[in-house]
Amino acid sequence: MAKRILIIEDEPALQETLRYNLEREGYQVMVKGDGLAGLAAAREMQPDLIVMDIMLPGMDGFEITRLLRQRRNTPIIMLTARDAEIDRVLGLEIGADDYITKPFSMRELLARVKAQLRRVQMERQERDTPQTQPRTSGNLTFLPQRREVLKDGEPLPLKPKEYDLLLFLLAHRGQILSRQVILERVWGWDYIGGSRTVDVHIRWLRQKIEDDPANPRRIVTVRGAGYRFEG
Ligand code: CA
Repeated sequence: MAKRILIIEDEPALQETLRYNLEREGYQVMVKGDGLAGLAAAREMQPDLIVMDIMLPGMDGFEITRLLRQRRNTPIIMLTARDAEIDRVLGLEIGADDYITKPFSMRELLARVKAQLRRVQMERQERDTPQTQPRTSGNLTFLPQRREVLKDGEPLPLKPKEYDLLLFLLAHRGQILSRQVILERVWGWDYIGGSRTVDVHIRWLRQKIEDDPANPRRIVTVRGAGYRFEG
């Protein structure tokens, strides 16, 4: 099935160029020229990827990204026109996956689009591949077939979500994981609840797996960014 791309861009000439080039690559394309209409379309059509301008009538690209990120991790490629915008995009406060500076070549944009779609595909495969072999990480042993984790050989009394969370942390050990990413990947995109849920479960997990929960060595807090599992 063709991947669906939503373009939110108010400049008619660029709209057409983007549509033409993306359709020629076999993508199904929808174009919105207004921020509010773009946000509504993003929520309704649930595209596989969004290419979005920052300065838009109605609502700007920063705000749209912020609102979308509360629920989904659809890849977003920002089209930026000014250096000041790039700083904000790169500041991670926005949550865009990539950006491209105007004017840009279509070849470059298409390469970025492909890279983002490939990344999502790989993440999905990794998530859907059943891991059945026991794995160890420090003094923890994961027994996926029994959905059990042993600490120093003793089974931990983990609730199902704690197990899912710990497995997710293990699979991404060494990486900084934002609360939002954890929430989306462990609880699901359609989970309605705040990132406090993540903090609470991390606290419970620490009480079970850390030798000194007040001074965690395995699940480390990365200030202003999220958590990192030390394998
Ligand atoms: Ca614009």
